[in-house]
Amino acid sequence: MNIRLGVGQCNCGNSRVTEIVVTETDQLISQAERISAKNYAPLPVVISKARGVWAWDTEGRRYLDCLSAYSSMSLGHCHPRIVDALTEQAQRLTLTSRAFHNDRMGPFLELLCELCQLDMALPMNTGAEAVETAIKLVRKWGYRVKGVPHDRAEIIVCRNNFHGRTTTIVGFSSEAAYREDFGPYGPGFELIDFGDPDQLDAAITPNTVAFLVEPIQAEAGIRIPPPGYLSAIRRICSKHGILLVLDEIQTGLGRTGKFLAHEHDAGAAPDVLIVGKALGGGVYPVSAVLAPSPILGLIQPGEHGSTFGGNPLAAAVGKTALEIIRDEHLSERAAELGDYLLDRLRQIRSPLVAEIRGRGLLVGIELQPGAPSAREICSRLLERGVLTKDTHERVVRLAPPLIIEKDELDWVSDQLEEALTV
Ligand SMILES: *Cc1c(COP(=O)(O)O)cnc(C)c1O
Repeated sequence: MNIRLGVGQCNCGNSRVTEIVVTETDQLISQAERISAKNYAPLPVVISKARGVWAWDTEGRRYLDCLSAYSSMSLGHCHPRIVDALTEQAQRLTLTSRAFHNDRMGPFLELLCELCQLDMALPMNTGAEAVETAIKLVRKWGYRVKGVPHDRAEIIVCRNNFHGRTTTIVGFSSEAAYREDFGPYGPGFELIDFGDPDQLDAAITPNTVAFLVEPIQAEAGIRIPPPGYLSAIRRICSKHGILLVLDEIQTGLGRTGKFLAHEHDAGAAPDVLIVGKALGGGVYPVSAVLAPSPILGLIQPGEHGSTFGGNPLAAAVGKTALEIIRDEHLSERAAELGDYLLDRLRQIRSPLVAEIRGRGLLVGIELQPGAPSAREICSRLLERGVLTKDTHERVVRLAPPLIIEKDELDWVSDQLEEALTV
């Protein structure tokens, strides 16, 4: 066995302590594979530190992070203001539960509502929890406001959606791997094709309460709807008196070149908005559901909750994340750099590429049928120092932190060009 010993130092109080750490990558991988459930198939690299857009493995090799933890790491790793907010708050107050008020939640939600242009917010932790919250909210609205008969509410969703992994949510997935063997599934969801407003119009019944959709289907392979789709579905929802629920967990907070992806279409503002991922600044799970007060105001004490939702540590981090996105103009940066990256990628002449598409710094490279798999391209990129992940068999996703520099995008493009031409 090949055990390498590395020497690490840590600064504990005043005395410097030197410790011996085993850094053998294979050992760590085989340990993880032995001990952890195999619900992921990670690429064979063990990351042990990161800063900004760069990450280092246990052997000291450097990688440019082009996955950003599925768009959660928009501010870059260990952003100094996030680390300060986290550590300062961690030393003051971390968790009260919502049995009491805390001094951090209100200021956080105030800024979130202002930036999202909605009245009220309900804080949760993970994205899936926020989606569940939105489902409960629109059902309650359906019964109390729209007058749908009890337990008959229907929610329309799209094929190839990704809204998380709870039993309710996977029940309306069209993806066998997400869904199979996890039934019985909850009723009350109707599937239509993404990108076709006429199908929405036709699917609405008197019991329909909402249409739940992603502005761009990111997990499905960065599928961008036709121009005008979001404003068309907005009009259809208003016409029929149902709620438009946008899941901007992945597309929101600057990623696509606007603060929210729906802002690319005029007149596409949702009734209910779901955000998460980058809201946690890359350090903590923070999500939220936002809506006008006549809708979110329907939720009464005892009807919904989360022990950690809205905790002061999450709120301190979430507020700082929003301030950084605003102060560092990250939406504008994503717009400019995204255009630059797309231009650069489209100059790549490779018979393996079927299509390159994206908005802001959310980019998908779709491979030709018969080309090596997206995972194979991701393995080649890993060897060249680029971290990214396939989404489904044919699409390589590029979603670097929004703080990335142009020369770093040039370098990534060069690596991709080489990975696609061997
Ligand atoms: C990641 C994601 C979710 C689920 O978020 P988790 O924090 O993993 O539960 C839901 N919707 C979309 C669009 C996502 O990208």
